Amino acid sequence: MTLRMYLWVPLLMNKPEKKLVSCRRCGTCCQRTTPTLHGQDISLVLERHIPLSSLVCLRAGEKIRDNVSGGLQILQQELVQLKPLKNSRQCLYFKVNKGCLIYTHRPVECRTLECWNTSSLEELYARDRIARQDIFPLSLLELIYAHEQRCSLVRLRPAFERFAAQQDRDALDLLVRACRFDLNFRDVVAEKTPYGPDTHDGIFGRPLHLVLRPFAPYFNSSVFQKLFLSNS
Ligand code: SF4
Repeated sequence: MTLRMYLWVPLLMNKPEKKLVSCRRCGTCCQRTTPTLHGQDISLVLERHIPLSSLVCLRAGEKIRDNVSGGLQILQQELVQLKPLKNSRQCLYFKVNKGCLIYTHRPVECRTLECWNTSSLEELYARDRIARQDIFPLSLLELIYAHEQRCSLVRLRPAFERFAAQQDRDALDLLVRACRFDLNFRDVVAEKTPYGPDTHDGIFGRPLHLVLRPFAPYFNSSVFQKLFLSNS
């Protein structure tokens, strides 16, 4: 089973009295999760049915919620998803009483999911998931590469681990400098290019200081925030 489908387990256990055979567009799936994009969705982005401001990249090395165990797992390969609303799992395109605002151009996972039979989505889920290189022009890929040189979670991982295990001061300094770089880099991109802050989660992933939070309670503290926000 897949991550997205596990969000459906509670629903499937509360079986409806009448067996579903087609989508009623109730929006329950849209309120619980957002779709990961696949090869079939590339044209939706390139043709601007889904703008960059609606995307978020979850980068390799991020800790994300594993809906099977309820715990956190490290993402091995980056994903591009539709953004959820702030502090919510609900897809940004879902509106109560209106449903999906991009229904005719919704991603393939949304078209495939049948909540009464998850086998089609199960078959699709791990196949042909896209990465940033599939949707962004070379000029942006160069910026992404420059950002990853300093802010790659895979590269920074030894520093998280040293800090978490030994409170290593050098590791903390490295992480603080990376968080400052991440924020400054985004400011420069917003100032010097047409890509405003609303597109940065899709282009560079979520800000590094937010992505660090699940790795140690200290990264969630105001003490840490003051460190990387000072002299930035
Ligand atoms: S794109 Fe539309 S169908 Fe898909 S999760 Fe969002 S609101 Fe629901």
